[in-house]
Amino acid sequence: MTSSVPLIQLNSGTQIPQLGFGVFLVDPADTQRVVEDALAVGYRHIDTATGYNNETEVGAAIRASGIPRDEIFLTTKLRNDHHKAGDVEGSFARSLDMLGVDYLDLYLIHWPLPARDLYLDTWRTFETFANDGRARAIGVSNFLIPHLERLIEHADIVPAVNQVELHPIFQQRELRSFQATHGIKTEAWGPLGQGKYDLFGMAPIQAAAAAHSVQPAQVVLRWHLQTGNIVIPKSNSRDRMAQNFDVFGFELSADEMAAIDALDENRRVGGNPAEVD
Ligand code: NAD
Repeated sequence: MTSSVPLIQLNSGTQIPQLGFGVFLVDPADTQRVVEDALAVGYRHIDTATGYNNETEVGAAIRASGIPRDEIFLTTKLRNDHHKAGDVEGSFARSLDMLGVDYLDLYLIHWPLPARDLYLDTWRTFETFANDGRARAIGVSNFLIPHLERLIEHADIVPAVNQVELHPIFQQRELRSFQATHGIKTEAWGPLGQGKYDLFGMAPIQAAAAAHSVQPAQVVLRWHLQTGNIVIPKSNSRDRMAQNFDVFGFELSADEMAAIDALDENRRVGGNPAEVD
């Protein structure tokens, strides 16, 4: 297996491995085993969130692995109900405590929750975490262009990353282009469509899988990587983790990329950030 995961430069001056491992919906009882497996397979970038209720187990897996802290890129996210003034600092400190670390590589606002209109205040507090070094980079998740525009206008620090739903039927072209202009890196959640539609059965994906003698999931991840997205697939199965990590031994042609690009329907399978509250 070739395992040279590219590093993407962030506006914080730090670098993020382009391929990581997500732990949404990994049961806390399984999380330590799952994350230990992911680290053994070779992943060095783990994406969790306070809302996933498995930060303690992610931290336990990192310690059990024996891998030095500075070789692992660790992301967590502020829970929606901790946005209130005064809660953000406490929530961040509890995340560090549960993960058993003294800094995060990336701390994200999980959702903008525009109806509550708190994200500008929350970001001000996030900036203090970046300034005191407890968050090596700060960013957002599920932000739409108007939310980013407003944040950039008021912020001292531009978000390093926006982690958003992104997969072949929802490619986020306009958002990606806006973010490229502002130096905000695009991170894809639900990169395999969360299993909510028959992504792996789509003709261009099947054709490329056959042409390269790989699995459809590997084609989709390769499409993300060649598009420039940071990508964090999830699986509880060690075999699939290994498959998803083994995506550096082949390359999609321009025609294969174009055929997958043409699958875009601009259709979400997850929540609309304008409405999530
Ligand atoms: P995903 O697109 O990674 O799909 C995961 C599902 O795909 C798994 O349950 C598994 O059944 C299947 N799968 C994985 N590898 C496979 C393979 N090789 N072959 C066949 N099937 C395979 O969806 P996700 O877990 O929702 O997203 C990835 C990560 O993104 C999450 O774990 C989480 O860290 C993050 N996320 C963030 C947000 C957010 O609001 N910021 C929302 C959802 C997810």
